[in-house]
Formats: sequence, structure tokens, C-alpha cells
Amino acid sequence: MRTETLQRGTRFSVILLLCAAALLSAFGQAASASALTVRVLDVGQGDSIFVVFPDGGTMLVDAGTAEAGPRVVETLRSLDAEKIDILVATHPHSDHIGGMLAVLDAFPVGKVWDSGYVHGTRTQQLFLQAVLDRKIRFGRPKAGFSEEFQGVLIEVLAPVKLIYGTDADVNNNSIVLRLSFGEVSFLLAADMETEQRRTVRRFPETTVLKVAHHGSHNGTDARFLAMLRPKAAIISCGAENPYGHPHREAVALLEEAGVDLFTTIGGDVVVETDGIEFTVRKVLESEKSGQEKVRFYIGNRSSRVFHTSACDGLPSERNRVYFKSAEEAVKAGYRPCGRCVQ
Ligand SMILES: [Zn+2]
Ligand SMILES: [Zn+2]
Repeated sequence: MRTETLQRGTRFSVILLLCAAALLSAFGQAASASALTVRVLDVGQGDSIFVVFPDGGTMLVDAGTAEAGPRVVETLRSLDAEKIDILVATHPHSDHIGGMLAVLDAFPVGKVWDSGYVHGTRTQQLFLQAVLDRKIRFGRPKAGFSEEFQGVLIEVLAPVKLIYGTDADVNNNSIVLRLSFGEVSFLLAADMETEQRRTVRRFPETTVLKVAHHGSHNGTDARFLAMLRPKAAIISCGAENPYGHPHREAVALLEEAGVDLFTTIGGDVVVETDGIEFTVRKVLESEKSGQEKVRFYIGNRSSRVFHTSACDGLPSERNRVYFKSAEEAVKAGYRPCGRCVQ
């Protein structure tokens, strides 16, 4: 009942918003103030996605590992975040909720959405206790729930219901979110695997996909991509992670589907949209810190040449391989770029 009312309200607001946008552009004003920004943070192996809504509201979907927590806080502060309106714990794995304590310590939070799956780990207990201690509003939204926030429709596509007895129950009970703003939409697929994917009858066409489960083979299949028809996809994973993410099968399917593929290895991936067009860019770690110092090198898989992150001859995203040092690049059989590497 509630959902229905919200959706009807949302459609109306979207129409109003589109009218407002049309009026604004008719007067030649910039639409940048009313943009939606989705930033997939480089948290190493894990997930953390920071969303800034058109009127400045914020949502954080996962917070990376406990080790990455301070980095998440630092990034949000550098983006002038003062509070988090909606904090989402997609599922209780430590690479998604480990950083929550640092985040809860650093920012006031409006409300928490949790998958409702009880993993029983100390990490999850500490997280839930911290939410309880701060008396933050807490909900377990299921598929069918939606909310309009600052002109953006937030829909929960999964969990349809909690499921048990799968290969990985924690992942298969993830909160999967769809955000839509005007004509541009996002699917934040958390760590959803095959079994959970099958519980969702239909995935609407989506502009940008945060690839499920760090690019694992069980997070992506051809039928899923055929429904989504994404234009860009972002894989959140760490360099040289022990799981071998992203898996070759998933990358091949995404490439066959013709998407622009990005990874968070070496920097955050930022998508910005005015509801009509969208841009995707990678913010390299060295730019973020504003330091001259080169913190890593980028190799070109085809030419086998490696560059500093500041070089103007960087290879395309899909051709990149990241090295922590020049020695590591040389050892891997790459030779230095004559222009940028001293
Ligand atoms: Zn994960
Ligand atoms: Zn997981």
C-alpha cells in the first residue's frame, strides 16, 4: 500500500522535475546544481558507494572493510559530506560492513537499511549494536519497496525474501538497489549471486551497472545483461585479491555486451548525471591526494609500456594493469614510457 502511494507520488514529482529542468534549460542555466553523483570508492577488495542527490542529500551503500573505513571517511569529508541520510548495509560480509563503525563515528546518520540476514559474526554484532546505541532509524526493506528522495527514485529489487541453502546465503540475501533520475538509472547489485538473481522476475533496463560480487563469475550472466542493457559497468575489487576477481568469464560477458568497463583498482569511479546525459570518470589516487608524488604505475597490456598516472598517454581502462612500483612493472616484463617515467 505504502509503496503504491510512494510510486504514484514519485511519478508526479519526476514529471514536475522534468518540467523544472526544461524551464531551467530554456533560460540557459546550468543543470550542474541538480546532478546525481554515484561514486564507487576504491576500498581495495570490498564495496562502498557514495551517492550525492540533486539537493545535496547523501546515501552510502556499504563501507568497505574495517581497514578501509578511515579511507571511506576521509573521502566523504573531502567531498564536504556532513551527514549520511541513508546508510545501506547490503549484506553482513566484512568487506561491506567492516568500515561501518568508522563511518558511524564520523557522521550523523538519518536511517539504516539492512538486509535482515543474520550472519552472527562479531563484525555484524558490533555494527547492529552501534546503530542501536545511536538510536538510528532502522529498516529491512524488501523487493517492492521504493522511496523518492530529492527527485531520484530508489527501488529495492532484492531481497524478494530471505533465502537459505544456497552456495553463499550471505551474498544471496543482498539488498539490490535501483536508482533512477530522469532517463538515467543505476543498478547497485551488491554481492548478489545466481540463486538470488533468479528470485527477481525482471530487471529493468539500466544505464550503469555496479557489477555484482566484485566481478565474480556467479554475479553476471548473459540473460541478466540482456535485460539490463547497461552502457557502463563498474567492478569494485582490489588489485591482486585472493579470489581472482574480476573473473575472466564475467569480464568477457560485459565486453561482449559492449559496455564501457571500469574497475576501482587504483582509484574511485565517479558517475555524474543530470538525468539526461551521464559521464563516467576515474579519479586516480594520486589526483585525490593532490600530491605530486607518483603512487603507482599504469601499464598498457597491448604495448607492454608502463606510465605514471600523470602521463597524457594513458591506455584505455580495459587495457590497464596497475603496478605499485616501477620495479614491479619491469619484473612483469613492461618497459618504461620515455616521456613520463624518469
Ligand atoms: Zn563482497
Ligand atoms: Zn559478500
